[in-house]
Amino acid sequence: MVEHSRLESQRLFERAQAVIPGGVPGIRAPENFVEGAYPIFLAGGSGAYVTDVDGNEYLDMLLGYGPMLLGHACDEVDRAATRRQQAGFCLNLPQPELVLLAERLAGLHPCAEQSLFFKTGSDATSAAIRVARTYTGRDIVLRCGYHGWHDWCLEGDAGVPAAVTESIIEFGYNDPDQLRDLLQKYRGQVAGIILTPVGHDFDAQIEPPGEHYLREVRALADEHEAVLIFDEVRTGFRLAMGGAQELYKVKPDLTALGKAMSNGYPVSALVGCREVMAAATQTFISSTYFPNGLSMAAALATLEILEREPVLTQITDVGQQLATGLRTLVDETGLPVTLSPYPQMPFLYFDRSLASDQDRRRDRFYGALARQGIFAHPRHHGFLSWRHGQAEIAHFLEGVKDAARSALG
Ligand code: PMP
Repeated sequence: MVEHSRLESQRLFERAQAVIPGGVPGIRAPENFVEGAYPIFLAGGSGAYVTDVDGNEYLDMLLGYGPMLLGHACDEVDRAATRRQQAGFCLNLPQPELVLLAERLAGLHPCAEQSLFFKTGSDATSAAIRVARTYTGRDIVLRCGYHGWHDWCLEGDAGVPAAVTESIIEFGYNDPDQLRDLLQKYRGQVAGIILTPVGHDFDAQIEPPGEHYLREVRALADEHEAVLIFDEVRTGFRLAMGGAQELYKVKPDLTALGKAMSNGYPVSALVGCREVMAAATQTFISSTYFPNGLSMAAALATLEILEREPVLTQITDVGQQLATGLRTLVDETGLPVTLSPYPQMPFLYFDRSLASDQDRRRDRFYGALARQGIFAHPRHHGFLSWRHGQAEIAHFLEGVKDAARSALG
């Protein structure tokens, strides 16, 4: 096994700690990986690979937490963005890309008749809540899953006034009875129900919806005249071109999109039916940067490729081959992990119910992967890109085989 130097990463981290609280904020903080085994700073990426600031190359199984569906440095997308960049892109008024992108999104996700554009997934989910409250004139929101870092949906309560979250009630995924009870309890007060249509919490295996679950949620929302919002920031343009709602044939009223839509350029969207979306005109949703065309040009190029090329089919096929290989390896080695039910989002999850001392095994396993030049997250499912092919699958499986020995040894 090759030992990689992490010296430059360490040096940058020490400098960062002096000028940035914690050094590296949020989910990318070194403590979320395996300290010492992973780099802390990356220098660049190309296709299915990223390079760290010490010059080590990694097979990228995380893809910037999802956006890089076409792989890093996708020429066609970058050229489209560059054309808009060189023409000017932060202007007093929107550019034609605003209309082109909204036209392109119409119908791609089954509920999408109209669109609003933002920068981040958190913007889009927060806008969804605002629109649902404006539309219904009600306050209460029932939520399930991760929807970003804003006050109303923070995991934890540090820095969030109780008054903000009093009107936000969490419910459990795949539990229609609990949702029914909550709707009963807050009858006539619920503005919206927001959930990720697939359960994909941090530090948990991905959970598909039960056979009737999403249809039951739809029926409950209708019965209580609450707006149904799917957070497809992760599943949109990935599980299918029209997201989980296309796959499971359940149409929400609103959908938050981001990540895979623009191959890394910051643009997100709230799409939905005309009637509910019209409420956006009665509130104020605006930002200096929302209408700028650079990321929209990138999104248009990304969608063009997704419609022209069999990107999602290839990712699914390659993912299925990977899943088969992983299943065999896990059976052979007895590695105490569960495997993701979705080929597009592979994950070897060290389920704490399968064995004792799982955190140590997990860290040894993922630490060994990182040392072999494979960047996968120990507690967050992975992603596959268009640039992951046979060589990458073989590389990953070989790495898993060796890392399983380290974890179990
Ligand atoms: N919703 C979901 C389902 C997400 O996965 C994320 C990001 N991980 C968000 C919302 C928030 O998006 P962002 O990080 O772009 O604000």
